[in-house]
Amino acid sequence: MFSVDGLLLLFMKVGLTGGIGCGKSTVMGLFREAGGRTIESDAVVRELLASDAIVHEQLRAHWGDAVFNAGTVDRRAVAARVFQDSSELKWLEDLLHPLVRAHWQAAIEQAPGALWLVEIPLLFEKRLETLFDLTVCVASPPDVVQERMVARGYTGAEVAQRRERQMPLEEKIERADHLISNAGSLEFLKRQTTRLIEQIATP
Ligand code: ADP
Repeated sequence: MFSVDGLLLLFMKVGLTGGIGCGKSTVMGLFREAGGRTIESDAVVRELLASDAIVHEQLRAHWGDAVFNAGTVDRRAVAARVFQDSSELKWLEDLLHPLVRAHWQAAIEQAPGALWLVEIPLLFEKRLETLFDLTVCVASPPDVVQERMVARGYTGAEVAQRRERQMPLEEKIERADHLISNAGSLEFLKRQTTRLIEQIATP
């Protein structure tokens, strides 16, 4: 157990998911502020692409030098290949996903007594929910997401393309143990996240 603001928390592994732009990163930030530890799957993927020698070797063997730029992985070139071809996407996911999972499992083993929040956009699609004590879905209405993502520099087509890869948000909501609704203000989001952390806490 560990203590946050005087509360004793059960050590727990929470799996966080939700649609693109629904507020997952924001919830992770709030968990960190409350003393929890967080891992973002996409950040682990970025690290693997940036500096993992085995990943580099596999990418070069599969796609050749075309996906490298001055020794570093050209992520746009990789994205162009996998977004057009589902078999290429599967190949890349089969390479990266076991490494991502090994990464967060090793991190949790280093501090098993902490409250861990692991953000996995494809938590349910990849059937990883059984690895967690609790699953949480953050959801926002599509028009609100569109507005937020466009403000962040994405085009409507890019948001739609990413959304197509995921199961419908309604299905994620149904599968999750806990729902955080991010349809309103950041304050509303913060209150719900704080409440969730309090619910996890033992008296
Ligand atoms: P995700 O990690 O699920 O893709 P983010 O947490 O990055 O989503 O949120 C997407 C964008 O919307 C970010 O720019 C974030 O600051 C903004 N945002 C998230 N929740 C709210 C909210 N309740 N009100 C206003 N902006 C928000």
